[in-house]
Amino acid sequence: MAEIPCIDDLTLSGIALFLDVDGTLLEIAARPQAVSVPDDLRERLRALFLASGGAVALVSGRAITSLDALFAPLALPSAGLHGFEHRGASGAYRTRQPPSGAALQAARAAMLHFALPHAGLMVEDKQFALALHYRGAPQLEESVVTAMRRIAADVRDELELQRGKMVVELRPAGATKAEAVAAFLEEAPFAGRLPIFIGDDFTDEPAFELVNRLAGLSVVVSAARPSAARARLTDVAAVRGWLGGLQADPGAALRALSAAQAGASGCDDASPAAPPARHVRSRA
Ligand SMILES: [Mg+2]
Repeated sequence: MAEIPCIDDLTLSGIALFLDVDGTLLEIAARPQAVSVPDDLRERLRALFLASGGAVALVSGRAITSLDALFAPLALPSAGLHGFEHRGASGAYRTRQPPSGAALQAARAAMLHFALPHAGLMVEDKQFALALHYRGAPQLEESVVTAMRRIAADVRDELELQRGKMVVELRPAGATKAEAVAAFLEEAPFAGRLPIFIGDDFTDEPAFELVNRLAGLSVVVSAARPSAARARLTDVAAVRGWLGGLQADPGAALRALSAAQAGASGCDDASPAAPPARHVRSRA
């Protein structure tokens, strides 16, 4: 991989921006289908995509078809289903080895059998992944996790357990957001740039760790959750605010993040960093 430039010298043409969607760009809704993308966010992403030379990608647990439906007519480079699906800047689409229909069918039937008697549980079929949402019945968390562990054990060669916020998911084995980011960084226009990953959930942690190893910028969207990420944005509004700053004054926005993140950039004798922006805080 090419040497990554020093943050102090960076402009939009030197960064590769990877964004989780739910809980990062969009507030989490009661149901995944209930979210919507405000026009100003869509336009901001489009502007950043163009100004960065195309190095803005969505890295989500949603399927790419779901991402496209949400952000239409914008169709960004995307990784879907936690890295199972990949659509690069060229538009070329590929997936990892899909789980078998038998494994998906067995898991789906077991999940529905468990969920049916409980009001507030919802099974989401993402074609190659299956999610059990318990946002409508948070008191059932323990039994949901126990049931999903049991179901996962029966299909463990093909599907892996992935916990998230009020959701337990079976995703295709081997797919991680770290692999998704690494795949983008092998391709133009992402290759050789400083990676920035912003995400909010457990599924984002492997990507934070990868970005840390590459001396990039890892940002968790949370006021307090322990995370491998080295900087924080407190909530979705702060992410959108930072993206607005990135569009208006990229240097200042990047310095604010790097100042909040000790050890980033790999610059020798880095010049004194600008103070962090109000909405960017160092890891406690
Ligand atoms: Mg998320």
